[in-house]
Amino acid sequence: MKDFLIVGHGIAGAVLSNLLIEKGKAIDVLDEPNKNISSMVAAGLYNPITGRRMVKTWMADSLFPSMLETYRRLEKVLSSQFLHDIGIYRPFVDIAEQNDWDAKRSDDKFAQFIEDVARDSVSEIDLNDPHGGLHLAQSGYLDIPALLLASSERLKALNSYSEENFEEDKLEIGDDTVFYKGTEYGRVIYCNGLRAQESKHFGWLPFRPVKGDVMIMSGEKDLKKIYNRGIFILPRKNREVKVGSTYQNHFESIEPTEKGQNELLEKLSALCHESFERKEALAGVRPATKDRRPLIGKHPEYGQFYLFNGFGSKGVSLVPYFAHDLLSHLIHGTEINEDVNLNRYLKEYSNPVNISR
Ligand SMILES: Cc1cc2nc3c(=O)[nH]c(=O)nc-3n(C[C@H](O)[C@H](O)[C@H](O)COP(=O)(O)OP(=O)(O)OC[C@H]3O[C@@H](n4cnc5c(N)ncnc54)[C@H](O)[C@@H]3O)c2cc1C
Repeated sequence: MKDFLIVGHGIAGAVLSNLLIEKGKAIDVLDEPNKNISSMVAAGLYNPITGRRMVKTWMADSLFPSMLETYRRLEKVLSSQFLHDIGIYRPFVDIAEQNDWDAKRSDDKFAQFIEDVARDSVSEIDLNDPHGGLHLAQSGYLDIPALLLASSERLKALNSYSEENFEEDKLEIGDDTVFYKGTEYGRVIYCNGLRAQESKHFGWLPFRPVKGDVMIMSGEKDLKKIYNRGIFILPRKNREVKVGSTYQNHFESIEPTEKGQNELLEKLSALCHESFERKEALAGVRPATKDRRPLIGKHPEYGQFYLFNGFGSKGVSLVPYFAHDLLSHLIHGTEINEDVNLNRYLKEYSNPVNISR
């Protein structure tokens, strides 16, 4: 018998799997890799100050230390580099915003996230920032594909990773365990991103997918920072940048669209006057939820099934903290944080499915 079957190896499944291994748990991971999954398309930004109004992101004081510690530790264990703490620069819209952030430097709530407040334009790039901008601390990007590659290599070396489609119909429920294709597991944890919507066990939860277009472009310089206001410009190798992203709640296709790409170009020209050449269009769908909080926890009827999902547009900063939270629940029986516990939607579980035993 093994302890856990993990379904999906995006950022959620990868981080959780590695933490379970650290705790000495025996796991199997099933994943059907796909270059269009959210984790492969994402820019991987982690940013403590977000939104048009530049507010501190939900639970930043807890999420960010856990995130930095977890990824740095995983880099050592996996002998790979994926955390790039290169910083984010956000132009101010006016002098009032500049003054506001100047004052926040001595405010304990914000000081740890402020590296510097620039009063004048930065010089690396021809940016639309006449009022200067905010250099954010504890910000940068996670190279998610690099993390997934290093993690899958570790799992393969442990004989714990299979590239195959998980077939939910093949699950057989035992008394307090579950069988999948002949192997008995203590628990199954669904880390399957958007495809949780198709699950007969978790499809009743209120997912609200949000599509995003991104673009790979090439410029004339190698940039050192991330620029972000309405849109981000993320440096890559060889003078390339990733530019994104759009937010579409209603969409017919998951492919990149001309409309999405044009929106990016418009926002790009509002942020900077630099010329970039279009190279490649990409799109992905964020596994977001009705209340914009993750969906984590035990199935209401079958305690063998767990979900670790709903990380929306912030998987990089949310996954490590809540992987530790779930781990503590699984190992020590602690309660899962109520803001993310899927049992907040129990009322919507009115139509239990029939599962053969
Ligand atoms: C355009 C865009 C930009 C983004 N930018 C950022 C950003 O800057 N910062 C940030 O933090 N987040 C960003 N995100 C969001 C981020 O990508 C997600 O929060 C995160 O990747 C979700 O990870 P996940 O592991 O839950 O899901 P996924 O990445 O979707 O992974 C799920 C995995 O499960 C596998 N799977 C599903 N069903 C099965 C099955 N039946 N059998 C086998 N395998 C299965 C899938 O193949 C996949 O590998 C962005 C997303 C998009 C689309």
